[in-house]
Amino acid sequence: MKYRTFGNTGLKVSVLGFGAMRLPTIDGETGRINEEEAIKMIRFAIDRGVNYIDTAWPYHDGNSEVLVGKALKDGYREKAMVATKLPVWSVEKIEDADEILDKQLEKLDLEYIDFYLLHALNKNSWAKMKKLNILEWLEKAREEGKIKHIGFSFHDEYRVFKEIVDAYSWDFCQIQYNYLDTEYQAGKKGLQYAHDKGLAVVIMEPLRGGLLAGEAPAEVKRIMKENNINNSMADLALQWLWNQKEISVVLSGMSTMEQVKENILSATFSAVNSLTLDEIDIIEEIAEKMRGPVSCTRCAYCMPCPNGVNIPENFYLYNTAKLFDNFEDNQKRYHEMEEDNRAVNCIKCAQCEELCPQNLPIMNLLEEVAAYFNG
Ligand code: SF4
Ligand code: SF4
Repeated sequence: MKYRTFGNTGLKVSVLGFGAMRLPTIDGETGRINEEEAIKMIRFAIDRGVNYIDTAWPYHDGNSEVLVGKALKDGYREKAMVATKLPVWSVEKIEDADEILDKQLEKLDLEYIDFYLLHALNKNSWAKMKKLNILEWLEKAREEGKIKHIGFSFHDEYRVFKEIVDAYSWDFCQIQYNYLDTEYQAGKKGLQYAHDKGLAVVIMEPLRGGLLAGEAPAEVKRIMKENNINNSMADLALQWLWNQKEISVVLSGMSTMEQVKENILSATFSAVNSLTLDEIDIIEEIAEKMRGPVSCTRCAYCMPCPNGVNIPENFYLYNTAKLFDNFEDNQKRYHEMEEDNRAVNCIKCAQCEELCPQNLPIMNLLEEVAAYFNG
């Protein structure tokens, strides 16, 4: 495993972090984690040097933190650090934060949390947190020994990102960044800004919800072949990130042992400035071919839809159909979904749109998807 210094904290953190938001499940139910397999995967990663485990209050319907706590029994706690997050959308008064943090320590069964983040800050939630004096509260939690390092994860424009970075001496931040999203949200500019201010930067969505890890579209395959690039798609996306010195940890939400092994192997070969300028140009060329029409990361924050629509799955099928020029297979998969799950069942209640960290116009996009697949 390779390690990098975590901002000004001086900690040495593995370049690969284990994201516990897409753990293996039973019968595809997000809240029913396949515990035996998930614990095996996390421990396998820790045994090979991964020392950053990222979870959060809502992951797997609240069960991810409990699972991570179990995985860290039997001596694994001493070998790994844990990140979890305050669900700012559930905090209306400061006592709510107290209650949630205590509950998280209980769920994780830990004395303290190594890295504590305000989860998914944006303009509105940051304004709400400021009103509640959340920074004072975070410092108090640190003095009480409940948390060690303070950070935030982020989904909004660069301008808001800069304002938040400037508001406090954060230890770290977590941003969405991959070779498709360099100008999106905090983006490349935000990465540089945070790094220059001494924050460690943790990367989420390195594979854009799996889009950058699947089979390459024909045009991308051609570019890779012409340029003798033999990496897997996932490895290419990860090496592009690790090439940048401003990045401390890349989180990967791993669902299978095979992915764990592949990612660990990729991390082993990672290095700052390992890519040539030509290779970086080729990846930019690939990015041009990989941008699907809907920038959905499949985070599922918009779910559940009260009318049963499976929002991320509809966008995934639409993107896949367009990117791979494969209408038939994806239309078939669309019709194989339960009837309620299909885009056509959106009744435009608008509940989902305010929950989407990508600010997608979900209702209009679903209409587009329905018109495409339903004809
Ligand atoms: S707007 Fe449509 S997709 Fe969104 S929550 Fe309402 S019914 Fe579901
Ligand atoms: S529509 Fe938005 S909230 Fe829903 S899965 Fe996609 S990116 Fe996430």
